[in-house]
Amino acid sequence: MFFFSGCLPKGDPADPRVVLISIDGLRADIFLDPGGNGFSEEDLPNLRRITSEGAHIKEVTTIFPSHTFPAHTSMVTGKLPFEHGISHNHPFDPERNFDSWYWWADSLKVPTVFHLAQEKGLVTAATPWPVSVNGPFDYNIPEIEPMRGERMSTLDLVRRHDKPSKLIEYFALFGGLSSSEESTHGFQRDLNLHHIFKTIFKKTLPHLTGYHIFQTDGVQHLHGRQHENVKEAFVFADSLVGSVMALITELNQWPTTTLIVTGDHGHVDHHTDIRLNALFEQKDLLTIQDGGITSWGVVAHPAGGAAFIRLKDPSDDSMRNKVVSLLEDVSWGKLLPARDIPPALSGYGKTDFLILAEDGYNFHGELEQPFIFEHGGGGHGGDPRNSQLKTTLFAMGRGIEIGAVIDSSHTTQTATLIAHLLDFPLNYQKPAPAVLKTSVLTQSRRERNKE
Ligand SMILES: [Zn+2]
Repeated sequence: MFFFSGCLPKGDPADPRVVLISIDGLRADIFLDPGGNGFSEEDLPNLRRITSEGAHIKEVTTIFPSHTFPAHTSMVTGKLPFEHGISHNHPFDPERNFDSWYWWADSLKVPTVFHLAQEKGLVTAATPWPVSVNGPFDYNIPEIEPMRGERMSTLDLVRRHDKPSKLIEYFALFGGLSSSEESTHGFQRDLNLHHIFKTIFKKTLPHLTGYHIFQTDGVQHLHGRQHENVKEAFVFADSLVGSVMALITELNQWPTTTLIVTGDHGHVDHHTDIRLNALFEQKDLLTIQDGGITSWGVVAHPAGGAAFIRLKDPSDDSMRNKVVSLLEDVSWGKLLPARDIPPALSGYGKTDFLILAEDGYNFHGELEQPFIFEHGGGGHGGDPRNSQLKTTLFAMGRGIEIGAVIDSSHTTQTATLIAHLLDFPLNYQKPAPAVLKTSVLTQSRRERNKE
């Protein structure tokens, strides 16, 4: 097979490298209080092993809105969502019912650590990573799925955007990957991607790899925080991390490799969905035809634990007053006009109102009545200061202080951590969390002084 045959970029085994694994929906509380969350001290042995052989940040506060794409992008840019351009999972596009996703790296307004790595001539890989289509990767299995109603399979979409072109074909031929639903969803998706990660890592030793594990989030959306299947998904993700650790050992790459395992957000339970745009339709503030929003004076951009309410004409005071009288006293949400949004909740950027879901409620994009719809499960998107929405971080290997345990950091600081490890020019808002050996900090400072 022509792939990996020698003509493609490879990292030198002696170079520093970082493997960044994101376990979607990895909650801090399953380590802070295992018993209270259905886990025993023996569960998740690989992540626990990192705590003794590497470092652990107990609680990592994510960004607002606490959603997957904005959070992953903050993790690799060090910036807040409105600064890096990925302010939500879905672009603000009411006419398309917010159905599209920020798949495209072209939407980024600032460089990620992957861009900085490429500028430095380092080898990069996404297996996969959010907001990666056309992104700065030598090896890219991009994160992209068909839109609702689109007939192309996930595999065919990846075939269109992978890099190098036809990379995915290698795995389709030799890795058991197919265009079936099963192959690209659920646990099988994570398993297939794991095989892809391991193959690319083993054959090309990228200097920086982003690797996203999904199923832990899917099961929490479905079942809520505490469920046998949720525990099973975390045990499964932990075993994938163990397999990555074993691979680094097998290749004798620990002296040069730093493994970082973190999450993008936690999860909170809800019992009821609120379909704000269905409510706005009921009050004649927007129109819905054939299941789509056709015109609007006001519209909600829903994000689970929060929603952003936008006026077509921000100078329309009569519409603004209608929104206030409709939503100021509801039992399921707390309405904040733009001027009252605190800095901690400023991540989305420009909006006319923010509404935060009260406990047990979740803002959903469905357009059908009834607008209050009983539907249980888990979600995120809300105020990242909520302890249930915190994630955590484990790091081990080159440059990491063994046994360092610190209480907290912020998702944006993960970018600073990676920048120190790979000696990028540092121009980040926040310092790296205190898990690095001074040798790495010194080295990076020396590198900066040369500029
Ligand atoms: Zn997520």
